Amino acid sequence: MSGQTRFALGDEIDIYCRWCRLNMNGVVSALDEKGDVAKVQCRTCRNFLPFKPPKDMAAEKRRLLDKALKMREGQEGRGDFRRQRPKQAVAIPVRGGSGPQDVG
Ligand SMILES: [Zn+2]
Repeated sequence: MSGQTRFALGDEIDIYCRWCRLNMNGVVSALDEKGDVAKVQCRTCRNFLPFKPPKDMAAEKRRLLDKALKMREGQEGRGDFRRQRPKQAVAIPVRGGSGPQDVG
């Protein structure tokens, strides 16, 4: 028994955001057929991403440090290990397409 909490669309959930690269607050944006969280939206950067539970940031730091040390030892000239991120946020369609209301 995993005892996992059931979430509904729009619920707040703790996530690991791969865009922010931090543990963040997210909003449930999609559920799979079993009712488990499939997709979330980061409340900070507003990007949608597959649900990842929050990470142990201490372990993550050590992992990155380890990687940095290895890179220093190896000195491999790889240019493109940094992936480019999209600069613009995803356009979200505006609700209620009844047009502007002219009052008065
Ligand atoms: Zn984010």
